[in-house]
Amino acid sequence: MDKIIVLATSNQNKVNELKELIKGFPVEIKCLKDFGPLPEAIEDGATFDENAYKKALHYARILGLPALADDSGLSVDALDGAPGVYSARYSGERATDWDNCEKLLKEMEGKTARTARFECVLSLAVPHGPALTWEGRCEGRITEQRQGEAGFGYDPVFFYEDFGKTFAEVSMAEKSRVSHRGKAMQEFATEFDNVMKWIKQRMSEMKPPKPDHAEFEHNDWSEERMG
Ligand code: IMP
Repeated sequence: MDKIIVLATSNQNKVNELKELIKGFPVEIKCLKDFGPLPEAIEDGATFDENAYKKALHYARILGLPALADDSGLSVDALDGAPGVYSARYSGERATDWDNCEKLLKEMEGKTARTARFECVLSLAVPHGPALTWEGRCEGRITEQRQGEAGFGYDPVFFYEDFGKTFAEVSMAEKSRVSHRGKAMQEFATEFDNVMKWIKQRMSEMKPPKPDHAEFEHNDWSEERMG
């Protein structure tokens, strides 16, 4: 069986983008929903970096497997970097993507300086703590109204100059070539062989595990099962 990496996010849009970017690599990608209900990670970090690590470590510990988490968001210059780490809940705890875009367009009413960037930190953690990190950024500007139906989150209001379109007006593949998440994943992909060695080494340092979850039995990183 291939070695398993868990995508530590319950955001299906992120899962789709990450899966597409990682496909073809000799590793089995699992999602959180493959494991049934799990306690959620608490995202109370002040930076994308902190939150990505918190999420990766949380799920790596619960599942006893290497976990890859994405923390990302939009920083708007005219709003002093907001919504930033609060991107997912900009208009409230149960905010939808639609609500968040509405709030952003309202905050930006009348503003001429509309530059913004998407940022993404990917953290790959093993259960006993060590982690690797990759980052990606993508510059753009905030439109005055929604444009396009594709993508998710702030894609309909994020205008990418080289495309002459918002991220919601291009395909997932086009977006991923230039996006914050795409860039971070391209770094990960470039280092793939070394990353696999790193995981194998780190997983072999672990003491015999006490699984919190039945799926742990499928952990194929352990030394004795490696060929
Ligand atoms: P997280 O789950 O805390 O990382 O929240 C990320 C939030 O940032 C998402 O819910 C979106 O609102 C926003 N976001 C991150 N990446 C993208 C993207 O690629 N397109 C649009 N919005 C994004």
